[in-house]
Amino acid sequence: MGHSLGLEDEYVLPALPEYRPWRDQPFDKGVNAASRSDPADLPWRDMLNLGGDVSQPTITLAEQGPTWIDPMPGGRPLVGSVAGAHYHEKYFRPSGDCLMRTLAAHRFCPVCQAHIVARLR
Ligand SMILES: [Zn+2]
Repeated sequence: MGHSLGLEDEYVLPALPEYRPWRDQPFDKGVNAASRSDPADLPWRDMLNLGGDVSQPTITLAEQGPTWIDPMPGGRPLVGSVAGAHYHEKYFRPSGDCLMRTLAAHRFCPVCQAHIVARLR
């Protein structure tokens, strides 16, 4: 459903030869994925809330731990730039968890939710 409304995948594929067509494709940005973490350049820049400091919104791969980061730090839905999206570690997604990242997620991230609502109006 997310793809039919224009959303990008938010997961990373393993760096294996069979995934090279996806990992190596040129990519700039979409509704919920971006090639650069600069807050001013993010498609979801108007929704950033991480720490209340838009100059430091990036969560690196090292900060994420092996597979999961808290999508609700301090009880608020996280919106920042989180490393790992559009099949590659070098791209960024808005939040820690989203149905566009894994079907095990409980919900879409705030950016995807807003996009879905806007498209269905
Ligand atoms: Zn999302």
